[in-house]
Amino acid sequence: MNNIKNIAILGSTGSIGRQTLDIISEYPSLFYPYLITANSSIDLLISQAIKYKPKHVIIANESYYQQLKDALHEYPIKVEAGAKAIAEAVKDSQLDTIVTAMVGYSGLEPTINAIKEGKTIALANKETLVVAGELITNMLKRSKSKIYPVDSEHSAIFQSLVGESHDSISKIILTASGGPFRTWNINDMAKITKADALNHPNWKMGAKITIDSATMMNKGFEVIEAKWLFDVDAKDIEVVVHPQSIVHSMVQFVDGSIKAQWGLPDMHLPIRYALGFPTRLASNCAKLKVSDYSNLTFESPDFNKFPMLSMAFDVIAKGGNIPCALNAANEIAVAAFLDERISYIQIPQIVENAVNHTDYISNPQYDDLVITNKLTRQYTSSLLK
Ligand code: MG
Repeated sequence: MNNIKNIAILGSTGSIGRQTLDIISEYPSLFYPYLITANSSIDLLISQAIKYKPKHVIIANESYYQQLKDALHEYPIKVEAGAKAIAEAVKDSQLDTIVTAMVGYSGLEPTINAIKEGKTIALANKETLVVAGELITNMLKRSKSKIYPVDSEHSAIFQSLVGESHDSISKIILTASGGPFRTWNINDMAKITKADALNHPNWKMGAKITIDSATMMNKGFEVIEAKWLFDVDAKDIEVVVHPQSIVHSMVQFVDGSIKAQWGLPDMHLPIRYALGFPTRLASNCAKLKVSDYSNLTFESPDFNKFPMLSMAFDVIAKGGNIPCALNAANEIAVAAFLDERISYIQIPQIVENAVNHTDYISNPQYDDLVITNKLTRQYTSSLLK
């Protein structure tokens, strides 16, 4: 009998995508990388296709189509290009699990299609729930599709909730490393360079999420993600700065007990859990030794120093299409910061301006989100000129 799960990795050349391929190679009798996709990292995508022999490979950037096709012409691999091809490919009846590891808004349409087809989703693209949490949650109620979180904090919460009922949850405690500027004086933040912001103390990640971690926008997005994944009010989600990144998050229950999940700061761990769930997969990976950590600390975040964290709570309270605008404005501002067109402290200023400029839509449908995303990107780009 064939029990191998066919996996799609959307964003196979990014940090999560590469680590997902590691996990798949760790358990060849359990998983097969049936579909891999990338945005524009053509050379790595080609070498992954030759190494892992998927059935289907797609490059989102259509200008690389011929290069991909030529490189793989002697292999029995279907080759396509374009975002539409990715959104269609997730519907393939052979696929069991979709790992959504692409960056930003681009994860939305394939995730929606995967839910419509009842696929299991290993969610690494938190922006999907930021943009469309309400829509996705309503769709999930009508689908046999399940979402298993890959984000380390949400994996920790998910693991802490196994065997618990929703009524028992009192509070979700989301841990944050605090990023590279946790100990900086607020008056020095204007001097932050791109290199400073890309130097995360604990986690090796892609550039976009590393900047989001430095501004703590990432933690704000994770509050929104947790609200939708675990059906809790934002007022019942507390962010706690835990610089060692060993306790990946916690749940406090109605009797006062707290359950936490600990581990080394290594994304292989939550990816392995999401792919294996409900089975815990044995691994020879490096394991945490508790006695190595005699100084685990927890403190409240500084909302003045990290205005994007408070912005996220404001945006959740507004709801509707406003979280979608927050994400779009942030994507444009972070890209501009990475291009060294704006300074670090301009990121929250530009994002706040764009969010306040958005026309409110309650209970947004997919088309409303597409328009909000487009208009907010245009407006935010106009602020950069
Ligand atoms: Mg995280």
